Amino acid sequence: DVVVVWFRQDLRLQDHKALYYAMKDAEQHNRSIMAVFHIHPALNESFTVRHDYFFRTVEDVAQQAQEYKIPFHFIEGDTEDAFRHLLEKVPAIKSVHFNLDEVGFGRKRDEHMTHWLETEGIQVHRYVDAHIHGAEEVEKPDGGFYSVFTPYYRRWSSLDKPAVFNVDKQKLQQYGTDFTKHFQGGSESFQNLIQKCTREWNHIGEKSAIQRLAYFLHNKVKAYEEERDFPAKRATSMISPYLKCGVLSPRTVYHKAMEVQQEYGEAKGLETFVSEIAWRDFYNMIYYVHPNCKDEEISSKYQQIDWNQDEELFEKWKNGETGFPIVDAAMKQINEIGWMHNRLRMVVASFLTKDYLMDWRKGERYFQDHLIDYDPASNIGGWQWAASTGTDAVPYFRVFNPTRQSERFDPDGEFIKRYLPALKHVPKKYIHEPSKMTEAEQEKYGCIIGKDYPEPTVDHKVMRKKAIAMFEGNEE
Ligand code: FAD
Repeated sequence: DVVVVWFRQDLRLQDHKALYYAMKDAEQHNRSIMAVFHIHPALNESFTVRHDYFFRTVEDVAQQAQEYKIPFHFIEGDTEDAFRHLLEKVPAIKSVHFNLDEVGFGRKRDEHMTHWLETEGIQVHRYVDAHIHGAEEVEKPDGGFYSVFTPYYRRWSSLDKPAVFNVDKQKLQQYGTDFTKHFQGGSESFQNLIQKCTREWNHIGEKSAIQRLAYFLHNKVKAYEEERDFPAKRATSMISPYLKCGVLSPRTVYHKAMEVQQEYGEAKGLETFVSEIAWRDFYNMIYYVHPNCKDEEISSKYQQIDWNQDEELFEKWKNGETGFPIVDAAMKQINEIGWMHNRLRMVVASFLTKDYLMDWRKGERYFQDHLIDYDPASNIGGWQWAASTGTDAVPYFRVFNPTRQSERFDPDGEFIKRYLPALKHVPKKYIHEPSKMTEAEQEKYGCIIGKDYPEPTVDHKVMRKKAIAMFEGNEE
């Protein structure tokens, strides 16, 4: 008999609930383990930078799994068809274990497939694995869901934390079986996807993820509280792509942070870092409770806002040509490396929605196509926060001033210069507002405004007022 582990956004072999329990299942019932990865046909239509990163990660974990004698079997087609085909080929399959998606498309797929597999007589075992606390675990004392982070976090902190689910890899080898001969087609589809991966990634996979986390916890976390808002400093963990692909388990992150706490004692940086991991759980819960929030404002009174749809301005934002250096440098960062610093995500999201008055959904989708760490819950949460339409959002009257943000969080323009070579020789005095240079200064510093770097496309003071009026018009 055979136990299937259905891998999806949990691309690791350590601290993996489904794999851990599949091994128990195999041990108890004397079954073999088969690792399955499903390739959805929609992937052929949209293959973005995050797919490039993701499939390189699949390749890496598949290689590891091969070493432990549980090679990945790639199945393809519509989910139900793919599994029907699988069950026909391997009738000995008795159970399927997977770590579930609590939100979005994955939630619907998991509900559907659980029902379908059970109807086919297969035992289904599902686990909340992608978060320290799943969507339903952090409840108010009266049983409802929280909508504000601070009380949520208080409750989150008070709950016992799940332990790490260590998989005994030596034992794993005893249960692996190679079914490769049945799955030629799926492997070809996977190889086709790999052929589409054209980027160079230097730190793919579980080993790199663990190293990155250890480096951060031993070298950076102490200064995290003071430095995390300064994009030039590289002071944050940069583990988000690993968490997104499930290369790192959030439980492992939590427990490694606690080990360091034992060493350092209470440290503010560590505490703040852990609270950021809780934000990830919070937004997952918010998306679970508001399943339509990718398409509509959570705050119903703002659902009628008439957002600007000007495509020309949107192009300028996307390409980093707004004339606001911090916004432009941030957009160059996402376009070049598929990742953006948190402070800058807030700045560019605020800029799009409050300075261009543009629909946050456009920005959310742009991030979806350009981030390697794209996580629907955190991204929607971040965008609705910046647009003032979410549950625990920035109030609409507190509009970020992009120039002040730049002066505060990139005081020397170090980050700006990293991504905007046209401003390389512009002195600190003008780096946040280069259009203030005189013509002679523009000549002197090799940056002609309107030619080498754009004029500001909007007047922040004017747009701030318009944004506030737009929201006020929608107040009840
Ligand atoms: P660190 O500061 O080292 O934090 C550690 C981890 O905590 C992160 O990896 C992440 O998993 C979690 N975390 C930190 N801040 C947040 C937050 N505000 N919300 C939720 N989780 C958080 N994060 C994503 O993972 N995917 C997204 O698609 C995403 N989109 C965003 C869009 C906007 C508009 C905003 C404002 C924020 C978004 N974030 C998103 C949250 C945050 O910007 C990133 O998680 C963070 O920048 C990742 O860098 P890091 O790993 O160095 O973070």
